Amino acid sequence: THIIAQPCIGTKDTACVTVCPVDCIHPTKNDPDFETEDMLYIDPDTCIDCGLCVDECPVTAIFPQEDLPPDWAEFIERNTSYYKK
Ligand code: SF4
Repeated sequence: THIIAQPCIGTKDTACVTVCPVDCIHPTKNDPDFETEDMLYIDPDTCIDCGLCVDECPVTAIFPQEDLPPDWAEFIERNTSYYKK
């Protein structure tokens, strides 16, 4: 899967949402929790690792999980837990 990390907090640009072919990045602007969540998350069970979202992100917040900077390891759980609500 791909993971969204720290730079998304306070940014939530949503350019990634537009390019994702499987619609696995939420919340979108249409989701009720878009205003209350401070960042976006990738559903690890749906992501097909196409990589399209990586270059779209204006703040370089998205990484293949294996390339995620170690300091941001906590974001693996943050992305996953959003989809377990
Ligand atoms: Fe969507 Fe592809 Fe990014 Fe996974 S890698 S979140 S499938 S755009």
